[in-house]
Amino acid sequence: MTLGADDLISLGLVAPERLDEVRRVAARYSVALTAEVAELIDPGDPSDPIAAQFVPAGAELEDDPGDLPDPIGDERWSPVPGIVHRYPDRVLLKPSLVCPVYCRFCFRRETVGRKGAMLGAAALARAFDYIRARPEIWEVVITGGDPFLLSPRRIEGIVETLGAIGHVAVIRFHTRVPVADPRRVRAALVAALRSEKAVYVVIHANHPRELTPAVRGAVGRIVGAGIPVLSQSVLLRGVNDDPAVLESLLRGLVAMRVKPYYLHHPDLAPGTARFRLGIERGRALVAGLRGRVSGLCQPTYVLDIPGGHGKVPLSPSAAEPGERAGEWVVTDRDGVRHRYPPGPGCRG
Ligand code: SF4
Repeated sequence: MTLGADDLISLGLVAPERLDEVRRVAARYSVALTAEVAELIDPGDPSDPIAAQFVPAGAELEDDPGDLPDPIGDERWSPVPGIVHRYPDRVLLKPSLVCPVYCRFCFRRETVGRKGAMLGAAALARAFDYIRARPEIWEVVITGGDPFLLSPRRIEGIVETLGAIGHVAVIRFHTRVPVADPRRVRAALVAALRSEKAVYVVIHANHPRELTPAVRGAVGRIVGAGIPVLSQSVLLRGVNDDPAVLESLLRGLVAMRVKPYYLHHPDLAPGTARFRLGIERGRALVAGLRGRVSGLCQPTYVLDIPGGHGKVPLSPSAAEPGERAGEWVVTDRDGVRHRYPPGPGCRG
């Protein structure tokens, strides 16, 4: 079941005097959450990290001078509808822009959930033709919106079509469904992902409270079918910008057989300034993780350069050149610096 702006009042997640504010936000940006997500919210906590992610706030109507309507430049790299071709060897395929929940910090908030959010049959065929005609495309990332909201039959059709393209080796789904609507991950959906090609699923979770037993069950059904699951999270002020929260999230993911993949620095999406933190703070949090959790739990901290210039890692480097040629100075997890000698063949 999907809940809209008015349901938030009846569930007590928004005070009646805020109805107008919520409706004004809903007139500009899509609003929806699932019953599973609503149940996680503590209505008595004004700083609830789940509410912060999904319940609309009047601050979304305040534009910040740094905001960008298309923060990661999808439009600039979209040669045909439904395709984003930013890197030579991979494309994004966006068959639908509908989501089970609408995250208040979403980088595609100007486009998700709008009318015409589904790619029609002709446009989808054209997107496949684009991929077929370019042998350099090795990986297709199916995103949106959320591709797991498509029927299993449509997902199967996409997997089969891509699987039949010789040069496509990897099919990767990005989805919020296993976390936001875990009961949707049924046997038919999992079966639709079966392919001779490598299929990966990347889930999106930002707070350890999102990792409920039902979510563990949904992820278990995917992993149990032999499909590797990775995760991406967004570093969000007031949600997970805390060492203990990040540690618990990352440990929780790995314990359910999900490899943390990316930790995104928040994008400059309109009306999302309240979620942003400085890169310095992000790097300090990520550096702190080095001593707290194993390498298996470490995601890559990345920034999508505004304007569509691609992702860059932001993680602080533990190594820097030393005084002698070829020498390096490495910093351990306690901040103690050690010299590392030049390699063979290095003069100095
Ligand atoms: S699920 Fe993804 S695309 Fe949809 S609103 Fe959230 S961040 Fe945006």
